[in-house]
Amino acid sequence: MASDDEPYLYYDEDEAAEEDDGLEADEDDVGLFEEAAPQPERRADHWAITRKSLSAAQQQDVSMVMNLVNVARHNARALLMHHRWKMDRIHDFLERRGREGLFRDAGIVVPPEDCGTATRARAAPHKRPRIVTCNVCFEDVARPSDVSTMDCGHCFCNYCWTEHFLASVGNGKKHIHCMQVKCPAICDDATVRRLLGRKYPDTAKRFDNLVLDSYLDNNASVKWCPSTPHCGRAIRIVDASERYCEVECPCGASFCFNCTAPAHSPCPCPMWDKWDAKFRGESENLKWIAVNTKSCPNCLRPIEKNGGCNHVSCPCGQHLCYACGGQLHPLHSCNRYDEAGHAANYDSIRRQMLRYTHYCDRFNVHVNSRKAEQAELWPAVQRRAVLLESATAIRPLIREASWLARAHRALLASRLVLARSYAFAYYMFGDEVRIYPSEKANLAIAKVLFEHQQWQLEENAERLSKVLAAPGVKPVLAEDELLRAMQETSNLAKIVDTHCREMYKVIQDELLPLLLEPMTIAAYRPDGPDKAKDLPA
Ligand SMILES: [Zn+2]
Ligand SMILES: [Zn+2]
Ligand SMILES: [Zn+2]
Ligand SMILES: [Zn+2]
Ligand SMILES: [Zn+2]
Ligand SMILES: [Zn+2]
Ligand SMILES: [Zn+2]
Repeated sequence: MASDDEPYLYYDEDEAAEEDDGLEADEDDVGLFEEAAPQPERRADHWAITRKSLSAAQQQDVSMVMNLVNVARHNARALLMHHRWKMDRIHDFLERRGREGLFRDAGIVVPPEDCGTATRARAAPHKRPRIVTCNVCFEDVARPSDVSTMDCGHCFCNYCWTEHFLASVGNGKKHIHCMQVKCPAICDDATVRRLLGRKYPDTAKRFDNLVLDSYLDNNASVKWCPSTPHCGRAIRIVDASERYCEVECPCGASFCFNCTAPAHSPCPCPMWDKWDAKFRGESENLKWIAVNTKSCPNCLRPIEKNGGCNHVSCPCGQHLCYACGGQLHPLHSCNRYDEAGHAANYDSIRRQMLRYTHYCDRFNVHVNSRKAEQAELWPAVQRRAVLLESATAIRPLIREASWLARAHRALLASRLVLARSYAFAYYMFGDEVRIYPSEKANLAIAKVLFEHQQWQLEENAERLSKVLAAPGVKPVLAEDELLRAMQETSNLAKIVDTHCREMYKVIQDELLPLLLEPMTIAAYRPDGPDKAKDLPA
């Protein structure tokens, strides 16, 4: 589906931010906006992790725990693995149960004197009797360097330890337990590596990889980038408890962190999953949706549109809405599905098909508009910007044409919101989801609210598309005309952004709470999914 195409690659982020600052300072002089634009929230970074930076990523978390509870590396890692690498859970546990409780819960044996070195037992070999009998092979070992003792105090000969490590790594164990029956202690990494490295260097390497992979495979805040071919990155989000978010990998793939499908908010994951499957099945295999032309309601000529705007006119002079093929007049709206109008005349299968077609058509209309607005409108907007910037007679504020790029960006964002809102509406108002029986009346009210919001967003997106295309506008305008164009465009962009925000709110606050199966959507991000940065290796 085209909805995951990423328009934001066109903009240099740093430059855009600087432009923002420049404009805000002068905002009052121009009277561009009624109120100050909302400041983007400052967020900590999401990181993109590769094989190379994997150990650095893991080290960050392990070091944090080593310092927090003052334990050796292998115990810190075991603790993190037990809590699926959720730092907040470890903090929480520590607060409620204390250090002892934290370790007991994870089945970790920690000597009280473990001060992050875990080598004390080995550092004091003279405390052991001169001759040790290994309780696995029953050999007597005279040289202290031929035996090893773990945190728990259990001591065996190095030969037996090595074979034990070999077998454990062979079984894919990510942490290796002590050989003593029922002893839950975890063998420290340094000993495992040292002993394995001497006799089985390949297995030692395999152990390192297992340890690293445990970070990716069992980590609630890390997911593999779903790109194909795979870009080799995993994304770590800032906070595992905020899995309903959308992220963009440095490779350009943007996806829903919760379900790893291409970004789809404000349509919730379960609905999007169904929509996507149905959409692929119905539109690619059955091909029963033909939305390439509409017939003019006046002269019945087939009309093909070009460009993104869905308000088109026929050579006969008739204006029509490309979404429904209806005549265009100021109060035209066609975003609601006319249940009653269709119900009377058709059998139920036909009715379901018509209902799906209604939502699918509109989904397609906005996806295709967005494509056109990327492929055709964007170069035109850029040409306008170049002309503007070369018009030295004009006030610098207007000449500096970032308002055009910003408005275009708002338009593309609104197309995504609109398209996905139809996927959402198809399920939300259909009979596949279950609503609390007591909420039926509220659903009807919220539906009206939603559809009104959707209609307003749609109308303003079309207007924005039109003013951005600037049909019939002379390339070089007088300053007052330009100022008006800039105000109109910027205001429309702001209105569109506000309606997108409102749409998310209606969905999350009014509609989704009515569902028996709770659903959540990723928050509205006018600039697209949060961008993950490559973690330095
Ligand atoms: Zn032995
Ligand atoms: Zn032990
Ligand atoms: Zn990627
Ligand atoms: Zn999802
Ligand atoms: Zn016509
Ligand atoms: Zn229009
Ligand atoms: Zn219409």
